[in-house]
Amino acid sequence: MDRPVDFYRDRQMRHDRCGHTCIVDLAWYERYAESAHGCPGCGDNADLGDALRFTGDPADPVLSDGFAAEVMWFHTTTRQDWPTPIDFAATLSDDIRRMMGDADGWALRQSSKALHIGNYESAVHNMLRRMRDQGGKGEQFYLFGVRLRPDVAILPGSMIDPCRNWGDVWLDQIASPEIDVVRYVNVYEDPGGLSAAIRPSAIAATQCLPIPLAVAGDDPWVADIAARLQSVSTELTPLPDDLSEFPYLHRETHRSKAAREIAEVLAAGLPATMEYQFESAVRWEDGDDPAEWARYARSLCALVEDAERVLGEVAAQPVREL
Ligand SMILES: [Zn+2]
Repeated sequence: MDRPVDFYRDRQMRHDRCGHTCIVDLAWYERYAESAHGCPGCGDNADLGDALRFTGDPADPVLSDGFAAEVMWFHTTTRQDWPTPIDFAATLSDDIRRMMGDADGWALRQSSKALHIGNYESAVHNMLRRMRDQGGKGEQFYLFGVRLRPDVAILPGSMIDPCRNWGDVWLDQIASPEIDVVRYVNVYEDPGGLSAAIRPSAIAATQCLPIPLAVAGDDPWVADIAARLQSVSTELTPLPDDLSEFPYLHRETHRSKAAREIAEVLAAGLPATMEYQFESAVRWEDGDDPAEWARYARSLCALVEDAERVLGEVAAQPVREL
């Protein structure tokens, strides 16, 4: 049982103050978030504080408790041993322990934080965000397929993303002690999609796939782009005339400019909320190898464009029972 993957589906939004609801695409939302246009109901811009919010799709099959307990959920991380808890107690020196007082209580609390799982789209988006925001570029990421225990207790319905205000979340903050799974409308990753905050004990099994997948060695696009980049000079581009009095401004090389322009074309084919993060993830750095760069850019795009292949690979990985 799987959730259909569609990075480009429409999203439902509501402006609580004026009561307007609308169905929009991600390009519309990006322009709204940049205040290029206002709420269709009242005209207010997103920067006025109480913006339109994603409400989730009431027809999302994962709102069915039976479906949510059976479907494969996803998570991306740089930790190959996820969801094994990090041994926080082992990270503390004796001096820090003395200063903290209840260091063991703190460590226990850290390891009982809610884990976050979501649809495939949100897992891919999470990886791109982490590459950009948290310096994860160049690190190996892993996509986890996650199965819940069949008897998990799921809070009915869904809530607004509890991480929006709080960052880390503990299930006991948002639900009663017998609840294992809380569905919420994600506002950051695959916005409008349904994710879940879960107790670590709710996971029955995982399957782990290193991503992105390797691109075929004879991929013609990679060969073409690599040849094109190789043919471009690594000299700095000239300063525009009107900036010639600022010789220390950042200047790109002809090759990094060519790579940037190729990345912009690729990004334009991705969901609007991922464009900037993709361009950042593949930003050319001096010394990059043209063929490796092209393979990497292509492999990241394939996570969106060839999701079926990735999902097939996840399903073929060994199952780790927890
Ligand atoms: Zn409005």
